Amino acid sequence: MSHGLLAGDEVTLEPISADAFKGEVRAWAQRIGVEPGEIHLRLMKRKWASCSSRGRLTFDTGLLTQTAVFRDEVIVHELLHLKVPNHGKLFHTLLRAHIREGQVYRASDTGMVSP
Ligand SMILES: [Zn+2]
Repeated sequence: MSHGLLAGDEVTLEPISADAFKGEVRAWAQRIGVEPGEIHLRLMKRKWASCSSRGRLTFDTGLLTQTAVFRDEVIVHELLHLKVPNHGKLFHTLLRAHIREGQVYRASDTGMVSP
């Protein structure tokens, strides 16, 4: 059993397109039940994502070369802020529940698993 996320420099990942990434964000927004205003991708340097008070989400382009599991973590984290503005107990409970749900979803959808 491995621990934690895969180190990015140990595997060479095929980057996904910006459109595919935004598609993932919209799919997650539907599952979580939130409506992000705008979804942007740009080089952010110091963090993976941010969320404005008006519901505008910005993600770092570096996410395009991260693992699907890592992208899920960051996407769900930011989308949840549209529901829960802090990092309290409720936030972490919802985050873990959605991540688990996403893992089941990816595992069961064979179309998304690479050979
Ligand atoms: Zn946060």
